[in-house]
Amino acid sequence: MHELSLCHAIAGVVKPHAAGRHVDVVRVQVGALRQVVPETLSFCWTLVREHEDMADAELELELVAARVRCRGCGEQSEIESRWSVACPKCQNPDVEVVAGEEFLVTSVDVSP
Ligand SMILES: [Zn+2]
Repeated sequence: MHELSLCHAIAGVVKPHAAGRHVDVVRVQVGALRQVVPETLSFCWTLVREHEDMADAELELELVAARVRCRGCGEQSEIESRWSVACPKCQNPDVEVVAGEEFLVTSVDVSP
């Protein structure tokens, strides 16, 4: 499962950051183009956090909409479909993705 390996990756970032302190909240930005199912990611996190010795660390997801800049008409727009990346204005597939590919830990709350 894709989400499970992502959760292991999150834990791999969080653990050295926490350096033995208690982890309260982990915030993760997830772009729409990452094809991550938020519910599945949250579920996998409950498995991984047990295993990684931070059993009550909450995972907060910030979902980022996909945006593209069209090389044809120059418009920048949000795209609805995660399956076809093309300009919604002129259907040009020659676009530059400007947002939606994020997958990163933005902050971690720890307590002693
Ligand atoms: Zn266009």
